[in-house]
Amino acid sequence: MANNKIANKSSIANKNIQIVIAGAGGFIGGSLARYFHNKGFTRIRAIDKKPLSEWYRRVPGVECLCLDLSEEKNCRKACEGATEVYQLAADMGGMGFIERFRIECLRSVLINTHMIESAYRAGAERYFFSSSACVYNTDLQKDPNVRALKESDAYPAMAERGYGWEKLISEMLCQEYWAERGMKTFIARFHNVYGPWGTWDGGREKAPAALCRKVIAAKDLGKKEIEIWGDGTQTRSFMYIDDCIKGIDMIMHCDGLVATPINLGTSELVSVADLVSLVEDIAGVKFKRRYDPTAPKGVAGRNSDNTMIKRILGWEPSTPLRVGMRKTYAWIEQQYQLRKAGKPHPHKISH
Ligand code: NAD
Repeated sequence: MANNKIANKSSIANKNIQIVIAGAGGFIGGSLARYFHNKGFTRIRAIDKKPLSEWYRRVPGVECLCLDLSEEKNCRKACEGATEVYQLAADMGGMGFIERFRIECLRSVLINTHMIESAYRAGAERYFFSSSACVYNTDLQKDPNVRALKESDAYPAMAERGYGWEKLISEMLCQEYWAERGMKTFIARFHNVYGPWGTWDGGREKAPAALCRKVIAAKDLGKKEIEIWGDGTQTRSFMYIDDCIKGIDMIMHCDGLVATPINLGTSELVSVADLVSLVEDIAGVKFKRRYDPTAPKGVAGRNSDNTMIKRILGWEPSTPLRVGMRKTYAWIEQQYQLRKAGKPHPHKISH
């Protein structure tokens, strides 16, 4: 078993290593760039295909490159001189996106194929891959009262169509780059991440942000009713962004986890209906609900079994949903008001 305290020292000792974060214009990558910057790392390279004006967070002092990482030559450039590579770029979104755009999701395999090869050629010491709970066998997720999913439940494989299968094959690439070529790779299976600086509008947002936005908009427009996707019985666990970032750092620097997929999520299961009630509570309102069973809703239930992460890292994500949702609601409300006032990108430079 890994001694994480010892393993973590390597990243903390040398603040001048070249860190590369792919997908840094997005939610998790942007927060990761901020995290390493705050820790005093001096050479952080952030890459995304979106124009800089659309990045969720820009961190002063971080090198920002606008590159399409589905092209090999761009991945070579992104990985130049890299010591550690964090691969968070993917064409993805909530159920509304991944059920509708399976080809786009599958095409993220190009990013993962070229990024891992480029990291290897650049001599990177560690490579992190952001996988997903969508790799798990969908047959095990047909009941809202789910048994939490443990790492071995990905096989025999029957992953989520499109998105889940892409993640599974990219996990395998990571495992083989370790087995055949000796590059240390790390694989975290994220379970729904939420928090400030995330997608909250536009079709790629996930349930927590979408529900906050719906409640905020309904309140603002004086509506009496909100629409909820599904019938409200689907269950999920939701991890607050700060836990996700801390988990990425711990997993990446734990040698006992090389090439070993591990859950990164909370085990606090909640139904969509209860999540709506929580948001209403935070907002101090109550709406009539119109459930839409024909809308995209994903599997019936999904939870994270955290036995392995607790055993290996002596830690698990534990921010209570109520605490994280309060912060998320407040941030989305601020964004909503700023957009209404005609200032849609107020926080390009994040502090
Ligand atoms: P996000 O959509 O906010 O960020 C992903 C970023 O990747 C986007 O900014 C996008 O522009 C960029 N990107 C897409 N294609 C690219 C390309 N060809 N070249 C360069 N950049 C490209 O998503 P996120 O929530 O920050 O997710 C980060 C990673 O974590 C993804 O791999 C995602 O699949 C995984 N994940 C996220 C969650 C979650 O709940 N947010 C859950 C499971 C897994």
